[in-house]
Amino acid sequence: MSTFYGPDFQALTKQDPEIAAVLLSELKRQQTNLQLIASENFTSRAVLAAMGSSLSNKYAEGYPGKRYYGGCEEVDKAEFLAIERAKSLFGAEHANVQPHSGGSANVAVYQAFTKPGDTVLAMSLPHGGHLTHGSPVNFSGKWFNVESYGVRADNELIDYDELRDKAIAVKPKMICSGATAYPSLIDFEKIRTICDEVGAIMWVDAAHFIGLVAGKAIPSPVPYADVVSFTTHKVLRGPRGGMILAKAEHAAAIDKAVFPGMQGGPIMSAIAGKAVALAECATPGYQKYAKDVIVNAKALAAALESEGMRAVSGGTQTHLALMDIRSTGVTGKVADERCGAAGIVMNKNSIPYDPEKPAVTSGVRVGTPATTTQGMGPAEMKQIASLIARAIATDDGATHALIKTEVHALTARFPIYQA
Ligand SMILES: *Cc1c(COP(=O)(O)O)cnc(C)c1O
Repeated sequence: MSTFYGPDFQALTKQDPEIAAVLLSELKRQQTNLQLIASENFTSRAVLAAMGSSLSNKYAEGYPGKRYYGGCEEVDKAEFLAIERAKSLFGAEHANVQPHSGGSANVAVYQAFTKPGDTVLAMSLPHGGHLTHGSPVNFSGKWFNVESYGVRADNELIDYDELRDKAIAVKPKMICSGATAYPSLIDFEKIRTICDEVGAIMWVDAAHFIGLVAGKAIPSPVPYADVVSFTTHKVLRGPRGGMILAKAEHAAAIDKAVFPGMQGGPIMSAIAGKAVALAECATPGYQKYAKDVIVNAKALAAALESEGMRAVSGGTQTHLALMDIRSTGVTGKVADERCGAAGIVMNKNSIPYDPEKPAVTSGVRVGTPATTTQGMGPAEMKQIASLIARAIATDDGATHALIKTEVHALTARFPIYQA
């Protein structure tokens, strides 16, 4: 296992054994537990190699060909490649590959299209929206007037009528769609029509599902949206980072908002990693992966329903399922803890109209990007659902330890990052 990291790791081990030990034990944690967090994945070794490279040393404020520092001719090549690959993969008119994260990409989007105090309409947080969509503890909620729309109580799908009524009533500068815990597809054509009707910028925060778009497994928001922001480390399977696609007419506003508006020097090693991941996404192998992620999510949601839980929105059309677990008699918080004790890593999550507080919740969110990268299929999803149900059903430590041995046996059959 320790040979995974290569020769530089031997030097690290000598110089800083404490940190070297963390790298090793985290590798082991990822290899031996079940990783069901919907926003996590395992990048390729090629992406990891780009991130841990000489490019980390280079300051490159500005854009390729127009930098504020000398010596950028090599890193420029990496950024040009990342931009060209992003535009070609998504059919986008403009790409900015510099945002350090999904959150910072969103700061740039607000800055490009709005001024503090402006009204923005976004999906309500308890119904799946993200912190940067108007949470009172986030810059978005502090500096903007963020109004929200949600899902219908009867089918737990986005209420487009409510969205339209709200848009007409509050006249937002910008309408945001995209969420962190919405298992269904979003009707981008409908949202475009509403944006046109009220004269709003159409912003899609595609952080969660952009990898499925890249793999041509679900419809793309790019033809409809003025701007699409996302992370590169979720289903997309790239390095930790953010990216923005936009129509050509918004290119200058987006670029100015990212730099100098929001950040200084770009992380060139991450940009090289983004280029590597985007090339991987354009392969038939990745397209099959994206489809398999959805097949597995559907299988996992169905199997959890057979175990007595309820899939919110009637199931999933994406990489994640939101399960209402009230029938098990425990809260999301307790389920999360019990599964964790059994080596199953997932997260508690509010369900729409949740009677419990956000720190407790009535649900859990499970996703299949990581297990699908490992090569697991629907048969393993069934087994995982049974392991989850058994872990949730008890607070007995010995039972959790037993389930953990079964988890280790399962993950051992689908090894990642072997030396
Ligand atoms: C993950 C996510 C983000 C934030 O990404 P970070 O890289 O964690 O800042 C933003 N929006 C949505 C919808 C997300 O799912």
